[in-house]
Amino acid sequence: MTLTAKRAIITGSNSGIGLGVAEALAAAGAEVILNSFTDRAEDHELARDLGARHGVAARYIAADMSKGGECRGLIDKAGGCDILVNNAGIQFVAPIEDFPTEKWDMILAINLSSAFHTTAAALPGMRAKGWGRVVNIASAHGLTASPYKSAYIAAKHGVVGLTKTVALETAGQGITANAICPGYVLTPLVEAQIPGQMQVNGMDRETVIREVMLLRQPSRQFATVEQIGGTTVYLCSASADQVTGTTISVDGGWTAL
Ligand code: NAD
Repeated sequence: MTLTAKRAIITGSNSGIGLGVAEALAAAGAEVILNSFTDRAEDHELARDLGARHGVAARYIAADMSKGGECRGLIDKAGGCDILVNNAGIQFVAPIEDFPTEKWDMILAINLSSAFHTTAAALPGMRAKGWGRVVNIASAHGLTASPYKSAYIAAKHGVVGLTKTVALETAGQGITANAICPGYVLTPLVEAQIPGQMQVNGMDRETVIREVMLLRQPSRQFATVEQIGGTTVYLCSASADQVTGTTISVDGGWTAL
C-alpha cells in the first residue's frame, strides 16, 4: 500500500502517538508535516531525520493548537493536505469543583477546537482533489468516562461527535473522517508516570502497569504507537474507502467491558 503523492499533516507530532503516526505514514510513502507549538532546532531536525530514513519529504511547522488562527495557519503554510491527523492533546486531572477554568479552556481548545479549525481549513483542498482522509485521535475516553478527567472526556466525546458530522458533510466526495480510540498507549508521557506510581503504591514496575495503569484494559497490555500508526495507514487505504463516521478502538478490550 502506498501513500506516495499524499501530503499528511499530523498535529502534535514531535513525540508519542503523533510521531508514531508520522513514522507509519512516511513508511507508506506519504510526505509528512510534523507539528507542535515549539520551534526548536531539534524539532526541525526530527522532521529531516524522519524524511531521510523513509525517503520522503518531511517538514516541521510550528503552530500552537490552542489558537484557532494558528491551527488554520498550519494548513495554509503546509499548502493544504490530503491526510489530516488531529492528534495534539493534553491532560489535567482534578475533581470538577476544583478544576481550574483555564485548564478546562486549554484542554477544550487543544483537544477539540483545534480539530474543528484544521478540518475547516483542510476540507476545501480535499474536495478540490476528490480525495481526503481526516483521522482524529480520540481516546477510549471518547466513548467512556472516568472520574476527575471532565475536560479531557468532554473534549474526546466532542471529537467523536465532530468526526461523525465531518463524515456526513463529506460523504460521497472521496473523503472519509474517522476517530481512533486508543486505550493506554506506552508513550514517553505515560512512561514518565510509572516511577511515581511505583513509589506511591509501593509496587514494582510490572505490578504498577498491570494492577494500576491497565486496570481497565482487559488485555493488561499497552497499545503501541506502531499500532496506532498502522490503524491510521489502514484508514488511509482503499480498503477503508467506505469506512467513515466511525470509531476504531485500539484498547485491549476496555470498551467491551
Ligand atoms: P504526548 O504528550 O507524547 O503528545 C502530545 C503532543 O501534542 C506532543 O507532540 C505535544 O508537543 C503536542 N502538543 C501539546 N500542546 C500543543 C499545542 N498547544 N499545540 C501543538 N501541539 C501541542 O502524548 P500522547 O500520549 O502521544 O498523546 C497524543 C494524543 O493521543 C492525545 O490527543 C491524547 O489525548 C491521545 N491519547 C493518548 C493515549 C495514551 O495512553 N498515551 C490514550 C488515548 C488517547
